[in-house]
Amino acid sequence: MTRIAITGAAGRMGRNLVMACAESEHATLTHALERADSPFIGNDAGVVAGIDAQNVLITDTIDGTQFDVLIDFTHPTVTTKYIDYCLKHDRKMVIGTTGCDEELEQKMEKSGESIAIMYAHNMSVGVNLCLKLLQTAAKALGDSVDIEIIEAHHRHKVDAPSGTAVKMGRVIAESLGRDLDECAVYGREGQTGARDRKTIGFESIRAGDIVGEHTVLFAAEGERIEITHKASSRMTFANGAVRAGCWVDHKPPGFYSMSDVLELSSE
Ligand code: NAD
Repeated sequence: MTRIAITGAAGRMGRNLVMACAESEHATLTHALERADSPFIGNDAGVVAGIDAQNVLITDTIDGTQFDVLIDFTHPTVTTKYIDYCLKHDRKMVIGTTGCDEELEQKMEKSGESIAIMYAHNMSVGVNLCLKLLQTAAKALGDSVDIEIIEAHHRHKVDAPSGTAVKMGRVIAESLGRDLDECAVYGREGQTGARDRKTIGFESIRAGDIVGEHTVLFAAEGERIEITHKASSRMTFANGAVRAGCWVDHKPPGFYSMSDVLELSSE
């Protein structure tokens, strides 16, 4: 049984992670963390998540805790501190926090030399399958189409475009031999001029309670292909993260992705 600690346990994802642990046959929740000024400190993590009490009280202290894998869905500034803790105390990690900059991503990769660490912008099985489909579509369609990535999320999301949209863009750019940093165009306004076919466009919608939707459009003259993923419940991400937690628990040090967990090869 993998012993799991969850950061941000009272957050939107945290509550779903608590539920996913309770439903898992292979994982057990042993620690639930929140920020020091959270009104949920001292409450049972299960009750906060809307399920039966799990006999795990939400706390702001990680020291002296018994767990095998820490699952972090919080904020980059929080994530970096928990990486330091896991490195120091030789614990494994699953990171789902988005909006992490290159420096933090490099830190995660470097940490993989000492601990097993799994990082994914999107833990859903469906999205990771979509990444494979996008690779195939981009290779087949090449430079003959305009490529646009449209994503929609709830009004509370703080970063844009979504980490998943960026990952989709990177997979497509790599398949086409382009550098996403050079060919990405974010939003459009005013006198933009005609579209350059070599660009990859991103549009972000923030509205209501949309859990997460991504469409990649490959548009030619006379036809277009759309590959769409729609998440209707955060449990899809939480179940994926707990599955990843149980998987990483048995792995040697390394920097892993969701396609490693799902055994989807990159070719
Ligand atoms: P949220 O704001 O609802 O939850 C974040 C929680 O972290 C809050 O409860 C906050 O109090 C807590 N927190 C802040 N500081 C803390 C600290 N020092 N220690 C412990 N907890 C602390 O946000 P959310 O909607 O749950 O999203 C969290 C992150 O997960 C975002 O980056 C989001 O984009 C990402 N996300 C990733 C996936 C994926 O599949 N990878 C899916 C959904 C969301």
